Amino acid sequence: MHAKEKQHSLVAHDGHDDRHHGAISVPIYQTSLFSFDTYEQFNLARKDEQENFVYSRGNNPTVRYLEDKLAELEQGERAKCFASGMAAISSAILSIVGQGDHVICTDQAYGPTRDFLGNYLQKFGVETTFVDGSSLDNWVQAVRPNTKLLYLESPTSMMFELQDIKACTELARTIGAETILDNSWATPCHQNPLAMGVGLVVHSITKYISGHSDCVGGVVVGTKRLMDPLMNREYMLFGGLMTPQTAGLVTRGLRTLPLRMQRHEASGLKVAEFISRQSYVSRVNHPGLASHPQHALAHCQMSGFSSLFSFESPEPAERFRALADRLQYFRIGPSWGGFESLITVGELHRENQPVASLVRLYIGTEDPDDLIRDLEEAWRFVAPGDPAEGEFHEQNAGFTQNG
Ligand SMILES: *Cc1c(COP(=O)(O)O)cnc(C)c1O
Repeated sequence: MHAKEKQHSLVAHDGHDDRHHGAISVPIYQTSLFSFDTYEQFNLARKDEQENFVYSRGNNPTVRYLEDKLAELEQGERAKCFASGMAAISSAILSIVGQGDHVICTDQAYGPTRDFLGNYLQKFGVETTFVDGSSLDNWVQAVRPNTKLLYLESPTSMMFELQDIKACTELARTIGAETILDNSWATPCHQNPLAMGVGLVVHSITKYISGHSDCVGGVVVGTKRLMDPLMNREYMLFGGLMTPQTAGLVTRGLRTLPLRMQRHEASGLKVAEFISRQSYVSRVNHPGLASHPQHALAHCQMSGFSSLFSFESPEPAERFRALADRLQYFRIGPSWGGFESLITVGELHRENQPVASLVRLYIGTEDPDDLIRDLEEAWRFVAPGDPAEGEFHEQNAGFTQNG
């Protein structure tokens, strides 16, 4: 794992580059094609469209700059950027599986990923078993002779459940399967799955990596062995490229990724700790809290935490929707990873019956004390007379004893 300090230099520093006339900001090469003086040069370049600049569906200098930075941050040999996280994920999966293959996937994975694996790929004869990914036994039990891929997302982005990454990659190695891990939540600043034996890492760049809620993008990072076929086939044939304009914006966001992640980590924990003290909360799903059942595993395989988490409550979901309507700083909306705090409200079901409300909070870069006050005031409005701070009295009692 890179030392955290080193990541700041990695995103901020480049050597002098004569090709760009020493430009400090990487120019946006807004061009579809590259031309050649001689036919011989053209033919030479065309032999490897992923390394040479020939056509912007293959390789474009602005996009390539971003890819090289992301590969370095993730400690991979090569990265390829895509039009969206889903373009990256579906291409990565298709680069590994073929007709008759079997996939094992954590049942908490991102919804469209589960839809792609569980429904869409069925028409090509690929079968997927979804398992409770938190226990290695479930992965082992699901193995079949034709298992080709273990698909991980750790932590998951609704219940924040972890998978034991090293144990899963060891299992994959024993059975001759590949692994893909969606690292969107932790970012390369907090988790480096390739160093733990994962074959391909995927990200929704839309989230923390771009970080400013103004881009949609994705990336796959890995070894040349797995990246070369993916780039020459799924990337080139589906054509889900990231444009040079988007790559320029994402690169601007990347300059502050390690800085932003430090703040997100601290603010996310502060608000999560506040939430865990509220009487209306039955459980907080944040791997950085000691109350998380996989807190020890989180410390083994991650070097930090980000700022998207959820909490559960016996209070009806309508009450939290009313809370969301009242909030000033938290905006109502999907996605996460930008500068602005967000809230969504759902329900947990068991046997088709709602059993608890599930509220997901994304903590942006605002002052966390403003966010806490916002939550307090909105709760007081929707539940007047409720003694929101659940452990208030016990804490006071402790103070008296100590004092
Ligand atoms: C948003 C998201 C994706 C999909 O990314 P898009 O850029 O929206 O296609 C994949 N995985 C996770 C965990 C996400 O949150």
